[in-house]
Order: sequence, then C-alpha cells, then structure tokens
Amino acid sequence: MNSQLTTYITLISTSGVLNLYLCLYVFVKRYKYKNIANTFIFYTAAIAIYCFASAFGLVATSLEQIKVWTTLQYVGMPISCPLGLLFIMKYLGIKITKKRYIALLVIPLISLIMVATNDWHHLHYKVFEIDPVLGAPFIYQEIGLWYIIHGIYTFGCMFVALLLVFFHWKETAKAYRLQLIILIFGQFVPILTAFIYLIGLTPPGIDPVPMILWLSSLLYLWAINSTRMFTIMPIAKDAIFNSINDGVIVLDEANRLIEFNQACKLMLPKLNKTMFGMEFNKVWLTLSGETFPSKLETDAFTREIQLGADQSKRIYQMRTSSLENADNKGQLLIFTDITELNRLQVELERQAFYDELTQIYNRRAFFQKCELAFAAAKKDSTPFTIILIDIDFFKRVNDTYGHPVGDQLLRHVVKVCQTQLKEDMLFARYGGEEFVIALKGRTEIDGEALANELRKSVEEQPLISAENIVSVTLSIGVAEATNDSMETIYQLLNRADQALYAAKREGRNRVRVYTKI
Ligand code: GH3
Ligand code: MG
Ligand code: MG
Repeated sequence: MNSQLTTYITLISTSGVLNLYLCLYVFVKRYKYKNIANTFIFYTAAIAIYCFASAFGLVATSLEQIKVWTTLQYVGMPISCPLGLLFIMKYLGIKITKKRYIALLVIPLISLIMVATNDWHHLHYKVFEIDPVLGAPFIYQEIGLWYIIHGIYTFGCMFVALLLVFFHWKETAKAYRLQLIILIFGQFVPILTAFIYLIGLTPPGIDPVPMILWLSSLLYLWAINSTRMFTIMPIAKDAIFNSINDGVIVLDEANRLIEFNQACKLMLPKLNKTMFGMEFNKVWLTLSGETFPSKLETDAFTREIQLGADQSKRIYQMRTSSLENADNKGQLLIFTDITELNRLQVELERQAFYDELTQIYNRRAFFQKCELAFAAAKKDSTPFTIILIDIDFFKRVNDTYGHPVGDQLLRHVVKVCQTQLKEDMLFARYGGEEFVIALKGRTEIDGEALANELRKSVEEQPLISAENIVSVTLSIGVAEATNDSMETIYQLLNRADQALYAAKREGRNRVRVYTKI
C-alpha cells in the first residue's frame, strides 16, 4: 500500500472516529441536550458510517468488495446531508413537522437503493469499475442520472443549511455568533471539498470529503465544550423569550432595536427583523405613525398607550427596565395588554356609579359629585339649587299594570326629563321613584321654572305601549342654598324634601319652592 493511500485512510479513519466519538458523547448526555440530541446523534452516526465504509473501501482489493463498501457509504452519506440541515434548523429554532422531517429522508433512501442495485439499471453510475491505470482501490466512474439528482439534493441540503445560518446572523445575539461561525464552517468544509472534487481538482478515483470531515467534527466538539453550544443555544433563549405573554423589545445602549419577541410581533404587526439596528424612535414612527411618547434617555417610566384603530384598538401598559451586564447595556421595553383590565375597570365604575334601570347616576354618584359642586358653589358664592322629584301614585302603576310596566315608566320619565336638561345639570336617581337634580349657578327661580317644565312635559307625554297608555304626574320640591357657609348638602336636600312634601300634601302634580311654603 503506498503512503498516499495510508494518509487517505488515516484521515478518513480520524473523521470516522471523531464522529463516532461525537455521536456517543451526545448519546450519553442526551438528557442534558434534549432539544437537539436525537438529530445530532443520527447526523454524526451517518457520517461515521460513511467515513468507516470509505476507509474500508480503500483497503478493498476487488471490484466486488469496493461495491459493498460503496453501498455501505451510501447508508450514511446521503442521509447525513438532510440530517445536517435538520440539526441546524433545530439549533436555529426553526420548527418542522414530522412528515416533512421524514420526507427529507426519502431521496437518500432511494440513493441507497440505487447504489445497491446499480448493476441492474446503471442509473446511479453508468460505469463503475476499477481504475485501469491506478488499479484497486481506485475507481473509474461515469455518473448516471440518479447520481446527478442525488448530488443536487445533497448539495442543496448543505447549501440551504449554510444559508439559514447566514440569515440568522443579524438577529443572533453577539454571544452566540461564535457558535454560528462554527456551524458555517462545519457546513462549508464538506461543501467546498465536494465542489473541488466535482470539478476534478482532487486526486482521481477517490472521494476526498471524508478525509476532511474530521475538521468539522473537531469544531463541533470544541463548540459543545467551550461555547456550550447545545446547552445555551439561542433557541433555548428564544423559547423563553417567545413564551412570555408580554411584548418585549430590547434596545442597546444607543437605543437601537436589537430584539423583540413573538408577543410583540402580534401587538405591532409591522415590526420586523429588517428593523434591527434602527434607532427606536424611527422604528416607532414607522410602526405607529407617531413619535414615541416618552424620552428613552430618561429614567424608567410606565405609561399607558393605545395602539390600533377603532375596532382593533388595544390599550397597553408600557414600562422600561434597564439591562446591564458585563458586555451589554441597554433597556427592555415591556408591553402588557391591559385592554381587558381597562374594560373591566370601566364596567365596574359604570356599575358603581350608574343606576342599572335608568342608566343615569345613582345616589352614591350623586352625593360624590354634588358635594364637590356644592363646595365649589359655596367657594365661588354662586347660587346652588336642588330639585327633588317624586312620581305621584307610582304604586298604583305597579299595581295596575305590573312591575315591568312600572320599570318602563321609570325609564320613560327619565327620558322625558333628559330632553329638558342641560349638560351641566346633575341628574340622578335618588330612590325608587324619586329623582334629584343639582343646579350649580342657578337660583330657586330658575329651579322652579325648570321644575315646571319637567312637570308639564311628563304630564303631557304618557308612556305609550302596544297595550296601554300610562300617564303619570310629578310632585317637585325646590330649594336654593343659603348664604350660610356652614350649610351642608344634607340640610339643603332636607329643605327640598320639605318642599316636595308640601307639593304632595297640596294635591300632587305641582312644584313647591321651600321659601314659599
Ligand atoms: P306618592 O304619590 O305618595 O308618592 O305615592 P306612590 O305610590 O308613588 O309612593 P309610595 O312610596 O307609596 O310607592 C312607591 C312605589 O314605587 C313602591 C315601589 O314598589 C315602587 N318602586 C320603587 N322602585 C321601583 C322600581 O325600580 N321599579 C318599579 N316598577 N317600582 C318601583
Ligand atoms: Mg316616593
Ligand atoms: Mg311617589
């Protein structure tokens, strides 16, 4: 055996041993490297088979033996390329369905069958014989149609894997870029060797790829140990980052966009990876058409923002959190969707302040707002008048037409009154069939006039339904605040109540002013 051949066999065996070692190493630690272990184990096992079969092929002495070893090479080699692609996809966090995973392995399987049965159809090798000049184990071959398909496919897999790594370069944090370089080399070394072989620049009659694969294996081995390639993979980080429900944007120290998660992409659909490196104020302008509402340079802030138009409008709480570690300084922008929380809050407030039946203020809201208005009126020395309304003989309505009609009538009376009221008048349901109006800046004369308007409107507009026409009247008491600064709202309400009582006593359907009773 000449020394050149010995060198070839040594190199190929080294590749085989290193790949076998990698395969066993990851197999033993497969629970630690859960995400990636299986694909990588199959990948390295396939390469190891390819290398060992190549090495044995080089010590073969007959064509028959060479054919057997070549077939065995094809057990490993064709399948190693799609497995390499799948390994890189897993590393980069690109998901693939099981069906597609299996589909990728179909052509390698056919290649194996083609090589094993080549003597019958010559589709893979048109000619496959011992090199007439160099002798065994060197081979003279002429490639067939399937060899071309197989070649394109294996090159394609390696090339796509290489491109994927390139495309993920920009979005991969600096800390993981060394791992990407190793992946690029790991793929590039066999592609380049196979290419040189194809254009006929390597020694004839021999496949040089397994001679060089030890280099890729060493790189992987080094990466697994020193950069912890399989334990702190970007995908593990991405999985956590993307599982957060809050939208997270990462900015560097110059406030440039360097990362965002999946939730953020849903909140801001126009956000995309081409914006990486862009100044965030510009990014925001592109996304929302508005300038960013806070100064990023200043200290941490929390604020509410609205995104999206009308129907799809959502409210977010946006807060910042500074990022500082040995290598990086920057900040996180965290978006929490509070649309539902806000809606509930609004609904709770509505329930707490509005009367459910008539949808005007309830007694609690009335007191809260009236006290403020009353205090303001006292302070400004402006008049302040209360109108207290009670529906006459309302019990009879319930008794005659039933409670639901009573309810309808209450709503009807409110509607009729509202047509006479102005924006600044505080109108509330005071009790069952009693209502109150607080008038800031108006005297008892204004109050009496308004009360008469209301009384007339209600009297003239009965509730008309399919079955009945229900008319009611109102008794109303009016009282104006005095100049006494110690007077309370309760005293004022009490005087309005006395006026109302007078209106009832005097026959109902009338307005009485406290000072005139
Ligand atoms: P008066 O002229 O003296 O005010 O007589 P009235 O019947 O209006 O007064 P009374 O205080 O005796 O009765 C008030 C009735 O209002 C009793 C109660 O059943 C009814 N009522 C109170 N709240 C509601 C309500 O929300 N819906 C209905 N349908 N009836 C109510
Ligand atoms: Mg009453
Ligand atoms: Mg009543």
